[in-house]
Amino acid sequence: MMRIYNTLTSKKEDLKIPPSGEINLFVCGPTVYDYSHIGHARTYIFFDTLVKFMRKRLNIKINYLQNITNIDDRIIKRSAEENKNPQEVADFFEKEYITDMSSLGVNAVDTYAPATKYIPEIISQVERLIKKGFAYSADSSVYFDVRKFPEYGKLSHQKINELKEGVRIEVEAGKKFFADFALWKASKEGEPSWDSPWGKGRPGWHIEDTAITEKYFGLRYNIHGGGLDLIFPHHEAEIAQMEAISGLSPLAEVWIHTGMLLVDGEKMSKSLDNFITIRDFLKENSVYVLRYMVLSQHYRTGLDFYKKTIQMANSSINRIADFKQRLKEVTGQSSHLPWEDFAKTFWHELADDFNTPKALASLFELITETNKLIDTNNLSQNDAQKIVDFIDEVNDILNILPVVSEIETPSQITALLADREKARANKDFELSDKLRDQIKELGWEVEDTAKGPRVTKL
Ligand code: AMP
Repeated sequence: MMRIYNTLTSKKEDLKIPPSGEINLFVCGPTVYDYSHIGHARTYIFFDTLVKFMRKRLNIKINYLQNITNIDDRIIKRSAEENKNPQEVADFFEKEYITDMSSLGVNAVDTYAPATKYIPEIISQVERLIKKGFAYSADSSVYFDVRKFPEYGKLSHQKINELKEGVRIEVEAGKKFFADFALWKASKEGEPSWDSPWGKGRPGWHIEDTAITEKYFGLRYNIHGGGLDLIFPHHEAEIAQMEAISGLSPLAEVWIHTGMLLVDGEKMSKSLDNFITIRDFLKENSVYVLRYMVLSQHYRTGLDFYKKTIQMANSSINRIADFKQRLKEVTGQSSHLPWEDFAKTFWHELADDFNTPKALASLFELITETNKLIDTNNLSQNDAQKIVDFIDEVNDILNILPVVSEIETPSQITALLADREKARANKDFELSDKLRDQIKELGWEVEDTAKGPRVTKL
């Protein structure tokens, strides 16, 4: 029914549906110390679309869970810089994250689980790991002893004795071995802390996820997702924690990882200061452009972010929208277009490791072939309507086109649009930009197409 690449086995595999018919999916959520950038959008748009495809096309029930890392060194650092309480900073950016996701049309998550709501569950996991001999305490902190878990490295396909000190492994006094990681961190003066058997402290980064998944899904579950930058050490550590506790393997059957959004070949990230926030991007571009940009590349490859990528996304969206409009004007009686073959290929490509670029290529082939028939009035109204329905079904999952047809444009917007066209004809671009902003404030977006301006409801 669906094949998907599994990082754990390095293979594309048939997705197994459990007898319950339900799939438990956990995707790592953000660390909320700043606004999300379009790199985050890449990962979350992908998982959102994948879930919608599995729910709507494959009729699979997915329980989609995401944590929110709301306690972390970076949150503490930011709150100190701004002289604020860390919880206040985290709560603020958590809300902003949800707002950004909603403006991206990312709404498939069933449960958001902020880490600090699960402190008892986290402490319970740390206690069990100590009891089983997989963890040790030192100076009121607790560390996982990776040498006690020989399979450490199985997800990132590394061996413990080949691990290198440095990259993403925190240097901390008290560790017995450099690759050991903190399960519980003793708090410093003034830092947020919770009581624990080891003194006042806070959770390490990796333990929140396993505490949350154990609470909602039990000892094992079906799919774990995130960006590929999280494979090591984060996901590796999750596996070690939970499999050490349960004695069961694998923690998650399938591990899905997205490639990074890149700028000049480097990961877009806050630390490199090469990021564009989602909200800044959306000030100048429509959400559909961002979604199309993301989906036009295979999710496992790096996605280079250029101005040209935006232009290409824009023109592809316009091509599909214009085509749909053209279909609605078709009046022909009969046609011999095997349009179902293109639709079949489209869905088949999505079911094959969610190959959106190949699926979109088949959509564009359909557009080319259909346009030839429309040019000679050889497409029937009936087929045209079926193709419209197919595009609507595609859009219901990919969400790459504004849904305009059903909405009537209010007269106030039409009037402003006419004024803007006049301004543009007079080359008064300052006024035309002002009018575009005014229209946007009223909840509509103007897009200039080859056939003139088109407004869509935001
Ligand atoms: P963070 O808040 O850094 O933990 O990131 C939250 C999620 O966004 C993780 O799944 C990351 O892998 C993902 N992510 C962060 N930066 C990028 C990027 N440049 N491209 C794609 N995904 C990213």
